[in-house]
Amino acid sequence: MKGLIFLLLLFSGLIMPNERFKNTNEEAEEKSFRDFLKWTFTNKKPELVAIDSSDEWKELDSGSTDYMVWIGHATYLINKDNLTILTDPVFSKRASPVRFAGPKRLIPPAIPIDKLPPIDVVTVSHNHYDHLDIRSLKKIYKANPEAIFLVPMGDRRRLERKGIKNVKEFLWWDDIEIKGSKFTFTPVQHWSARGIADRNKSLWGGWFMQFPNRTIYHAGDTGYSEDFIETRKRLGPPDLSLIPIGAYAPQWFMSYSHVNPEEAVQISQDLGSKQSLAMHWGTFPLTDEEVLEPPVLLKKALEEKNLDEEYFITLKPGEIFNLSPQEP
Ligand code: ZN
Ligand code: ZN
Repeated sequence: MKGLIFLLLLFSGLIMPNERFKNTNEEAEEKSFRDFLKWTFTNKKPELVAIDSSDEWKELDSGSTDYMVWIGHATYLINKDNLTILTDPVFSKRASPVRFAGPKRLIPPAIPIDKLPPIDVVTVSHNHYDHLDIRSLKKIYKANPEAIFLVPMGDRRRLERKGIKNVKEFLWWDDIEIKGSKFTFTPVQHWSARGIADRNKSLWGGWFMQFPNRTIYHAGDTGYSEDFIETRKRLGPPDLSLIPIGAYAPQWFMSYSHVNPEEAVQISQDLGSKQSLAMHWGTFPLTDEEVLEPPVLLKKALEEKNLDEEYFITLKPGEIFNLSPQEP
């Protein structure tokens, strides 16, 4: 019942028009309340299993550079060219406005929040609770008062109200340069809401990070769209893309705003990405697919497209991915 109330909160911002953001196809994700109820009463409960994680991150020390670690869900820790970045930091037990209800994490964050290195930049893709966790953001700000928080248009005040400073808001294609690296906010197909009356009042998107010697793209949360072809046109093909592969079932309800693994591979190809890494699975049971299914379907999609397994990989939470300068 608590879960139902939570989901009601999340999906009920269907009422008020005016000043809402839309996707680049001029549409807004509109599911009727009937659709929502249909999903609520027909949904399957996936078996709650924990995915394998790794302790490798413990080898990192204050001198470590050029690495990336998947902490879980859409949270990546990235160190590149004198910057340490956290994407969509969520360290709370639940992806929810309240502590007592809402999707509870299946695995702890691979790196506890108090074991993180000093953070320079935090990127937020949109304001859903599994991406914008105000408790985590506050803790990160407390430990890193100089950190810069990059958020979608419409979310700045949400952070500032909690005392967080250095918050910058972005529309699509806005960018900022930080210590010689450029961060651009890019369109994806999704929506936003925290409560009952704020549906699509703030924006959603991906973050394209151009470091002096490498480009990394974090797709946030998205359905399949033309946006990735446009992103490649404007910003060039990324070296590495972090793309969601989970939260796609049932397709009739989820496909507008969440890709399945096959579509994730297509996004990687649309971007012209040299390599991609999976995210947004195995952490919070948000939807109907089995927890362990996304990487299985990812492998299948790669086989069907005759692509190498290495083209799109699934890291274990906590595993170190090397970002050392590439061979010429
Ligand atoms: Zn979302
Ligand atoms: Zn999400």
